[in-house]
Amino acid sequence: MWLQQVVLRGVQVVGRRGVCSTVSNGKLPLHFNYINGERVSPLNPDPTQVMKVLEPATGDLLIELETSGPDEVNRAVQSAKEAFTEWSQLTGLQRGRIMQRAAQIIKDRQEEFAYWETRDTGKPIYEARMDIWTAIDAIEYFSGLAPTIAGQHVPLANGSFAYTKKEPLGVCAGIGAWNYPIQMAGWKSAPALACGNTFVFKPSQFTPITAVMLGEVYTEAGLPHGCYNVVQGAGETGTLLCEHPDVAKVSFTGSVPTGSKVMAAAAGGIKTVTLELGGKSPLIVFADANLDNAVGGAMLGNFLSQGEVCSNATRVFVENSVMDQFLAKLVERTGRMKVGDPMDDDTRVGAMIHQDQADKVMTYLDGAKKEGAVVACGGELVTPDDPRLKGCYISPCVLTNCHDNMTVVREEVFGPVVSILGFDTEEEVVQRANNTEFGLAGGVFTNDLTRAHRVIAQMQAGTCYINNFNIIDVAVPFGGFKKSGLGRENGLVTVEYYTQVKTVYVEMGDVDAPF
Ligand code: NDP
Repeated sequence: MWLQQVVLRGVQVVGRRGVCSTVSNGKLPLHFNYINGERVSPLNPDPTQVMKVLEPATGDLLIELETSGPDEVNRAVQSAKEAFTEWSQLTGLQRGRIMQRAAQIIKDRQEEFAYWETRDTGKPIYEARMDIWTAIDAIEYFSGLAPTIAGQHVPLANGSFAYTKKEPLGVCAGIGAWNYPIQMAGWKSAPALACGNTFVFKPSQFTPITAVMLGEVYTEAGLPHGCYNVVQGAGETGTLLCEHPDVAKVSFTGSVPTGSKVMAAAAGGIKTVTLELGGKSPLIVFADANLDNAVGGAMLGNFLSQGEVCSNATRVFVENSVMDQFLAKLVERTGRMKVGDPMDDDTRVGAMIHQDQADKVMTYLDGAKKEGAVVACGGELVTPDDPRLKGCYISPCVLTNCHDNMTVVREEVFGPVVSILGFDTEEEVVQRANNTEFGLAGGVFTNDLTRAHRVIAQMQAGTCYINNFNIIDVAVPFGGFKKSGLGRENGLVTVEYYTQVKTVYVEMGDVDAPF
């Protein structure tokens, strides 16, 4: 990519750090809110509230954003509220057709989306391409479901009956974290829109770009103005959305402490919430497992997106009798991962989202060493050869000699760090795997299918894997137990989280009143 010139659907990207020709003077425009079908700036911007978005790979300024305050949030919500009448009265088929056109437009522009997603997040371009597809999948999947959303007919005595309807909630708000920006915009907007709701999204202040691009795509596809809106800002903007009286539901992805605040803010209005929160997931490797697959699973479970993944299997429990073989394979394969320029096709570990996150990871590593963990590989700050790559790069790290009470084993690190823990018996490892306040994901590698199902049946986690890890399909629900969240994204069940049931009794005879 470095010296290549890539032409993307009328957009020219020159060189690895080239500039999209849709922007003037080599800068993205200031208009990063998307309201009523167009890019806009806040009406009353507060010059003291401009957020600087740095490019993770280089540390350079990428864009400056104006924070959305109460006026702007209100403007977006009112736009969504006005659009709701028209959108909710279309048939599911009509809504689905518009969404299918949107999915096709993203497919046509997928390289452009991946390019900006990588510049925004620092993740390797090969992963950004996969992320774009997870958004496309969600829009296509829910577009197909839209015409099937229907209620029940319930026969009652004497020919009377009742029926139920699944009605949209109204204006739904989405709030996203910085690790999967386009995926979150897609996973939240697609079911919301398919069910007849309208939508206002607040991306993370660190990754504002592709959610706005998605807005342009929806508009080009024919989505009525106001159905999909984006407001930029930090936590205060998110709170304004949660508390807005015309917002009916909040779907949030982020950390447990913020999820708790979102729930509290939504409680005042008795709003439903979907919470996709953090994790400290276990992966159990039994001695009879295919060890090459288990190592692959442990790496998928830890090193995608620089380890900044909520469902990561950061606690890998390995049966002691195969510990040496497992570790040798894991260390060898981890050591081969290329760390560096996220725009290179063969990079497997890109830049950490920002300096603070890198510092946090390095602090966890220092603490782990002090508590007795041994670094089997990685865990170092890497300086790429290219002098422009001034972001923070950490080589993927395997920690051994770990025990369950270490801070690095108990807390979410959100970096490329895996803790390896030995075990001897099934009973022991199941108890240790569940010994956490989180419950997002869990996995087991074994060739004994009976044991696999027995262990998974006891695992306190919302998303479980047998002989794989961190794979995602839009048709399969995703979400957590315990403090890892409430509700689900993806799969048929998601319709329940974006609709409300109306029951209608129909009397076919006379009213039998005892008065
Ligand atoms: P945060 O919880 O810090 O932030 C998430 C979003 O909430 C951001 O848009 C943030 O704004 C916003 N926000 C912050 N404070 C408030 C508030 N009081 N009210 C409303 N919104 C608020 O998480 P991170 O962005 O740091 O993401 C990392 C976390 O997300 C990790 O814990 C990870 O496990 C979790 N996560 C969970 C996933 C899941 O599906 N379960 C998936 C991905 C991540 P801003 O950042 O702009 O200030």
